[in-house]
Amino acid sequence: MKELSIYIHIPFCDHKCIYCDFYSIISYENVSAYLISLKKEIEFYSKLYRKEHEVISIYFGGGTPSFMKPEYIREIISFTHEKFNVKFDAEITLETNPGTVDKEKLKAFREIGINRISIGVQSFNNDELEFLTRIHNSNTAIQTLIDAEKSGFQNISLDLIFNLPNQTKEKWKYNLEKAVSLPVKHISAYSLILERGTILNKMVLDGKVDLRDADYDADLYELTIDFLTEKGFEQYEVSNFSKPGYQCTHNNTYWHYKNYLGFGTSAHSFVNGKRWWNYSGLTFYNESIKIKGDARIGEEILSQKEKTDEFVMLSLRSTGLNLCTLKNDFDSQWLERNKKYFNQLINDGYLFWTENFIKLTKKGYAVCDEILAKFK
Ligand code: SF4
Repeated sequence: MKELSIYIHIPFCDHKCIYCDFYSIISYENVSAYLISLKKEIEFYSKLYRKEHEVISIYFGGGTPSFMKPEYIREIISFTHEKFNVKFDAEITLETNPGTVDKEKLKAFREIGINRISIGVQSFNNDELEFLTRIHNSNTAIQTLIDAEKSGFQNISLDLIFNLPNQTKEKWKYNLEKAVSLPVKHISAYSLILERGTILNKMVLDGKVDLRDADYDADLYELTIDFLTEKGFEQYEVSNFSKPGYQCTHNNTYWHYKNYLGFGTSAHSFVNGKRWWNYSGLTFYNESIKIKGDARIGEEILSQKEKTDEFVMLSLRSTGLNLCTLKNDFDSQWLERNKKYFNQLINDGYLFWTENFIKLTKKGYAVCDEILAKFK
């Protein structure tokens, strides 16, 4: 059986954060209708993919999945078990925002089968949290992490954002120090990205907020790698660090170019080189599911060259490029074509080559996108 991961989008949020460009809705009127649609969509795809696939991970992302009642999430998990072959020890992650859960609710999530929790802390500095318009403060975030452990979660991840306006190196380091002092096995550290259409973007355009330059961003990034590596976290993707044995199975599906199905508004799927995506708007999504069972609004079938480029990009951004897989499954000539550039990158300290694998060094991770843009 082939491995398959499942992503489930829960679009509901308490409010809209200034930097967010995810599809999210602030109204809860439609949660029941959404559940009905989700179940129909799961059923639709199970008829196509159940037979040959075993589900190795389920990931509830959003939006704010932890805002939902545990029974709501349980119903989706049970239905997915009913319709797909879910591996007995599949990783089941719930994105959780501090301020939306207490110990009882976390316990209930653990009891319904969630075994990995990804907590959107973003910062342990109150002024930074206020700037990001998050609903929690530093104490709430710390309490949520402690409560998660007490509720039986061992696999706890947290998200942090660096290069916020006026963020000194000391302030960023404080965030990292606080994170590693808590019961955390996995850290995702992202640089603040200015997305078009967000409130933050408008604030920057209006001159109300100043963002630091790329060099400062790179300094904070290198500080992050050095600090977390020294504390026993292994970097296994540009922005992701884990204690041994706690890499995220679901994220590795994306980065190792494996198959996944995405259910819900704006969700993307990728199976055997074909990618498709759903309607973003809730009304369109619900209507489409009602009429035809799925909510596909677009799709693309990748050419062999596109597949190779994506495989190389995702591999180098994560655990490294397997040259045997590249040669046998994608493009036998790729290495030859890029050899000169490759040797130059190795000589300059951006890459290293171990038998069958090519991996970015710390210096290479920092300029990953520039490196990838030059491959032929
Ligand atoms: S809670 Fe998350 S998904 Fe919701 S608006 Fe804020 S950043 Fe976006």
